[in-house]
Amino acid sequence: MASKKQICAACGFTGLGSPQRSSSGGASHEICPSCGFEPGYTDDDQDISPEQWGTEWRASGSKWFSKSIPAPRKKSAPKAAVEKSVRPTKKVRARSVKKRNR
Ligand SMILES: [Zn+2]
Repeated sequence: MASKKQICAACGFTGLGSPQRSSSGGASHEICPSCGFEPGYTDDDQDISPEQWGTEWRASGSKWFSKSIPAPRKKSAPKAAVEKSVRPTKKVRARSVKKRNR
């Protein structure tokens, strides 16, 4: 049981620290860092179901909610940025070598 992933019922985020609802129905009040859903508050006090919250969250662009917990990295972007920053440095070095030879 302890190693089981805790999934957010609203957005499907799998990194929660504890189950949103215990087997007896108690809410964890752990705010999902992905969508901001808080079991026991969003659903009980605000009367918004996880399904409804998740639908509205996706409709508004699926923005990462938490400011203290970083969003999981996307794979494609960082590599291209590194390659671009390396190439100009090599060109500059090559030019300065040619000037010295003259
Ligand atoms: Zn969530």
